[in-house]
Amino acid sequence: MASYETVIGFEAHCELLTESKLWCGCPNRFGGEPNTQTCPICLGMPGVLPVLNRKAFELAMRAALALGCRINRDSFFDRKQYYYPDLPKNYQISQNYRNLGEEGRVTFEVDGKERSVGIWNVHLEEDAGKGMHAEAAGADYSLVDLNRAGVPLLEIVTGPDLRTVAEAESFMDTLRQILLYAGVSDCKMQEGSLRFEPSISLRPAGQEGWGTRVEIKNLNSMKAVSSALEYEIERQSELLDSGGSVAQETRLWDEARGETQAMRTKEEAHDYRYMPDPDLIPVQISDDWLEKVRTSVPELPLERRRRLVRDLGLSDYDAGVLAGERETADYFEACIAAGASAKTAANWVMNDVLRECRQRSIPLTDFALSPDALAGLLAILEAGRINVPTAREVFVKMLESGRDAETIVREEGAEQVGDESALEPIAQSVLEANPRMVEDYRKGKKKVIGAIIGMVMRETKGKANPQVVRPLIERLLNE
Ligand SMILES: [Zn+2]
Repeated sequence: MASYETVIGFEAHCELLTESKLWCGCPNRFGGEPNTQTCPICLGMPGVLPVLNRKAFELAMRAALALGCRINRDSFFDRKQYYYPDLPKNYQISQNYRNLGEEGRVTFEVDGKERSVGIWNVHLEEDAGKGMHAEAAGADYSLVDLNRAGVPLLEIVTGPDLRTVAEAESFMDTLRQILLYAGVSDCKMQEGSLRFEPSISLRPAGQEGWGTRVEIKNLNSMKAVSSALEYEIERQSELLDSGGSVAQETRLWDEARGETQAMRTKEEAHDYRYMPDPDLIPVQISDDWLEKVRTSVPELPLERRRRLVRDLGLSDYDAGVLAGERETADYFEACIAAGASAKTAANWVMNDVLRECRQRSIPLTDFALSPDALAGLLAILEAGRINVPTAREVFVKMLESGRDAETIVREEGAEQVGDESALEPIAQSVLEANPRMVEDYRKGKKKVIGAIIGMVMRETKGKANPQVVRPLIERLLNE
């Protein structure tokens, strides 16, 4: 069997987070009753005039800048003519002759190694409606829901720079993180607001020229993308091994069968008869406007993760979890700004805070404890006034009551006992009550000390400072 190099590129589509559609005032909202969010403009009636949604254009600019693109300052729209059952005017308004952004790059990591993919172009277009095919046996009709027609859509086209499925997966994760960080889309793949269409070809290892590429559609999750790519690698290499050739075509992923199926041969650009849209005036992007949008691009996830490692000394893993979502990183850094130490805050945010959010099915932005309130608890913990198990109890009480940590610790007398003279009689009585353990310890079974510490902790209702208890018991046992 010959050895092949896999070549993968992507077209990604993401719906932009606007209130209204791209050319009309209809709401841009997922899940309404079919055809209730429509008007003569998005229904494609003759004689109507589209008007560009400024917010959508700005979000597209921000996304293009976050993806490292150069912005073309004179931007205009074209009609992509085709027969679209789900777009009644039978053309899609898109950007063919002048992309909004070009020559970007996305950097990501695979197994700790830095890789990157070129972004050929980013352009703004409108989404189409949704065909709904009757599923009842014998049904021979289809329905169409045009709520989605005219929703602002960003198309992102990468170069054929990816070489493995793992790289494709890391790229998809990273692109999603960037778009979420930039606040341009909610990126819900299950609702179709983020869609990936990979193209994949194989070539004999060492060959310069490209192999014949296949595009894959109908992928509703990143897992489906991975499965479809794995399937195509196997299908294409078997074809090439047996002396056959790969057809240039679009294939559909069949989730139930776990295979791709031929859908149609690839259209060429001339099939679409692109032409500039005469209804829409060109958009000139001024220096001021571009600068204003540029300053709205946040620090991106990979940079932020590296900064957390570099400046705060976090492990790469912890920094990756915290920087994975902008809200988490913001919350964590607000705890630090309120005086918490990096390592302690990282542990509490990653474990306790995120767990509570998951259990309540709420986003971190709706979490009841402010970063200041958590930092207040952590300050008491780090000062040694309470131990970790008590801190966990106080954390739960803060969530339940809304009171601050200081008040709870004071009112409930939760401060730990770190005074040796107060702990010594308790430790003495525990040792006297357990002569077997004392004997075991003195014969060399040092591990029993754990059980003895546990008993002292129980006697003090968990308030003894274990860091004081251990040396105290060691001293008493060795006397
Ligand atoms: Zn409309």
